[in-house]
Amino acid sequence: MKIALIAHDNKKESLIQFVSAYTPIFEDHTLFATGTTGTRIMEATGLQVHRFQSGPLGGDQQIGAMIANNEMDLVIFFRDPLTAQPHEPDVSALLRLCDVYNIPLASNMGTAEVLIHGLERGDFNWRTLDD
Ligand code: PGA
Repeated sequence: MKIALIAHDNKKESLIQFVSAYTPIFEDHTLFATGTTGTRIMEATGLQVHRFQSGPLGGDQQIGAMIANNEMDLVIFFRDPLTAQPHEPDVSALLRLCDVYNIPLASNMGTAEVLIHGLERGDFNWRTLDD
């Protein structure tokens, strides 16, 4: 599965903890991330992560483009709901595309826990079926 990992600045530490806790699961998948999030995850976990631009410089849109091309299977995006983001339109567009294409999306750790266990159980294997 292709998994996108994104975290706003105040949530990066939480995402790193989350990915660290589930490294044995994540290492079986292909990981993508916005720039800073990807660097921090690689440094903390040793996982290989394909890095896009930083979020404010277009990284969210690059991940959105993958979704529109049916090239992303799952999105884990720890948003900061308490801080205004300069690239809010890009964030909204990414979330919207997840809904357009029925891509499983976790915007906080509570839902990410459910998704990761579903991933391990094979709940998203339908993503690999040809249409
Ligand atoms: P970053 O981007 O990983 O480059 O910080 C995330 C974001 O703020 O959307």
